[in-house]
Amino acid sequence: TTVKDISLLVRQATGMDVDTGSRSIIEDFPEIHDFHQFLQTKKMVPYFRKSEGIASNKIIIDGQVLLNFSTYNYLGLNGDSEINETVIDAIARHGTSVSGSRLLCGEIGIHRELERKIADFIGTEDAIIQVGGHSTNVNTIGNIVNEEDLILHDALSHNSIIQGALLSRAKRKPFKHNDMQHLEEELKKLRTKFRRTLIIAEGVYSMDGDICNLPELIRLKEKYNAILMVDEAHSIGTIGRNGRGVTSHFGINPEKVDILMGTLSKSLNSCGGYIAGNKKFINYLKYNSPGFIFSVGMTPSNAAAALASLMICERDGYLFEQLKTNYTHFLEGLKKLGADTGESSRTPIIPLITRDSDKALEFAESLFQQGVNAMPIVYPAVKESEARIRFFISAAHTIEDLDAALDIIQKNMPILTSEKDILTINP
Ligand code: PMP
Repeated sequence: TTVKDISLLVRQATGMDVDTGSRSIIEDFPEIHDFHQFLQTKKMVPYFRKSEGIASNKIIIDGQVLLNFSTYNYLGLNGDSEINETVIDAIARHGTSVSGSRLLCGEIGIHRELERKIADFIGTEDAIIQVGGHSTNVNTIGNIVNEEDLILHDALSHNSIIQGALLSRAKRKPFKHNDMQHLEEELKKLRTKFRRTLIIAEGVYSMDGDICNLPELIRLKEKYNAILMVDEAHSIGTIGRNGRGVTSHFGINPEKVDILMGTLSKSLNSCGGYIAGNKKFINYLKYNSPGFIFSVGMTPSNAAAALASLMICERDGYLFEQLKTNYTHFLEGLKKLGADTGESSRTPIIPLITRDSDKALEFAESLFQQGVNAMPIVYPAVKESEARIRFFISAAHTIEDLDAALDIIQKNMPILTSEKDILTINP
């Protein structure tokens, strides 16, 4: 099929006069280019910078060694020799792929070992792993509810939650961020109009680093007979006893949350996602979850890396002490500088709110030039008024690293109060 043929087909199907000339129709999709074009109007583009080696407390970009606050290697274990050796052993035993869906002969021992370990670690009956964190949300949320159901999710939910909700075709309504009163109002108003209600929250929110109100979420889900799902991408391995996540943080029985979702890509130094919950539900997913059944099983190396990481979490409590010392030190340091750290509440995610995308880009670039790598998060990823620099703190940082970064941040604080001299974008 040629481009001209496609143009004709579109004309026939839509009645629109589409002249693609020699261009591919795909080039005319405005959303593909929007953000890229916006960046081209800027003096600097901080995205897709290539790093070398292992990104930990330091990162090497273009031969320059920088203090690193841009990767979610929270426990500083990526590249750890114990994990690497376990992975090498898994590859020696199974190669680099399981070459099939687990249902159809792609099952290896490490898969179940990891699932058992996740369930035991968190305190649920069982767990199921999937090859991607993002796709675990899309695939699970997208298939456990449908147009007869209601999804009430936090307004700051991760994209994978929204995509899953859209796929499900359930009625979707965000409640104000962490606002339990608003959630209850929506439950009162809407719940009886639908078959089931699924409430979705996150353990630690990835933009502000604040923690969900789990006790209240559980009270509401019980009162209104709803299903509660909590995404623990940023809470597993960071809060609770030895990183056991948000249920442990609040001292709540994990079985009170119907669906605990998490990713393997952050504290667990791998790639993939999991759903933990009761046995019956996990078995249901094993035979009914399309992205699990119709997708390859997790690679031996990814399963082995996550398994080894969980064993280290269970054993090495000092990592969590170090992480806590580090994020407390950094947050207090930023506050002393008068920085706006938003809702940050003692987790390894700490924002410095600039309230302006241009200033976030300029500030981040200036930090980068002076040896600090921290990512600007700008519109449309967040509202223009909530543009920010986001710092991920790791157990691998030393107090000297953090103080050196705080010094450089202090020198650059005038950027935040200066008049803007570069393009403004519309919110
Ligand atoms: N959920 C949340 C809250 C996330 O922040 C992310 C990604 N950072 C994901 C899910 C997807 O995880 P992954 O990157 O492992 O695919």
